[in-house]
Amino acid sequence: MIMDTQTITVDAQQLQTDFDELASRAETAFNEVQTTAYLAQRLDELGVAYQKFAHMTGLVATLNPGHRFVMGMRADIDALKQVYQGRPQVLHSCGHNAHMAIVLAVAAYFKTHEAELPGTLKLIFQPAEETVTGAEKVIQSGLVPPLDVLYGLHVCPQSELALGQAEALLPDIATRTYWVTITGRTAHAGRPWLGANVIDAFSTLNERFKQLKLATTTPYSITTTMFQAGESSNIVPDRGTFAVDLRARTNESMDQLQDQAFTAMRAVAVDGIDIQVDENDLSPAAIPSKPAVAAMSQAVTTVLGTAGLVAPVPTQGGDDFHFYAYDGLAKESTMLGLGCDLTPGLHVPGMTFDHQALVTGAQIMIEAIKLSGKMPG
Ligand SMILES: [Zn+2]
Repeated sequence: MIMDTQTITVDAQQLQTDFDELASRAETAFNEVQTTAYLAQRLDELGVAYQKFAHMTGLVATLNPGHRFVMGMRADIDALKQVYQGRPQVLHSCGHNAHMAIVLAVAAYFKTHEAELPGTLKLIFQPAEETVTGAEKVIQSGLVPPLDVLYGLHVCPQSELALGQAEALLPDIATRTYWVTITGRTAHAGRPWLGANVIDAFSTLNERFKQLKLATTTPYSITTTMFQAGESSNIVPDRGTFAVDLRARTNESMDQLQDQAFTAMRAVAVDGIDIQVDENDLSPAAIPSKPAVAAMSQAVTTVLGTAGLVAPVPTQGGDDFHFYAYDGLAKESTMLGLGCDLTPGLHVPGMTFDHQALVTGAQIMIEAIKLSGKMPG
């Protein structure tokens, strides 16, 4: 079974070159100009057609166009601004250059093995994953048609997966942040009964948050992460702001958690207190897809052997990849979690991993695409 991979030849040297070139062009969310130019140049060299997004960075490549069955593969392309070795730099410390190099290898493979494609393949090079805003912009762009199946991938820290291991589903959790303004009524501190103190209201609300209970056995949390109010020691404060961070394993649990959070806010918004949600950010949880996970599982065992396929390891991570299924653009989807002996961790400047995983990662993603033709439905 492992021998099957001999039919999937990927260019390890080219993977390394693309990885290095993209590392040297690392750019933050929606600023991936040189990154997009490099991707376009490589696709031109390969003779693969692509379309750039009209009003943002990133692009979508198409192989074997015109088929009813449409598959997708997504690579995130942004990096992080961090202080490293004493100066601010933009670094691919989340490994998105590895994801791009692997998806370029997928493009190269299928350009010369188009007959092995069970349908049309869309390769999405998506900007701004780190700000959890790129996926929705891609969906809104209209450049990606409805997908029968979509695959993504992420390199995983060694604490979760070792080199030679992979999981066919990254069990990303749902995360939601609310930025909120709370207003009351000011008064002299000596006559507090004339005012509506936003700190008192907030502390009541925070206690309610801590007592929220969901009917689920899976972990969830609601945590106040910021609070500011008051400017004077003898005045009842009438304005404050806070941020609250919600996390849950499933999108259903997140819906319940949000309902309860809003019930708590409504309960406190009485007697001169008003509560206004200014902004919010959502990252949906992974939506498990049986056919996509089955194809990815088989791809992993084909490339890494049965011992290489590991059950999903719980994570506290989120990824805007899951918007494609959450918003209904992708019927089935899953993300490969790729073990690569990555240390010391994601988002840590100086992060390194074993580049053998670039080759096996590309082989797994190619194999998953080939197997998609056998998916039920
Ligand atoms: Zn990442």
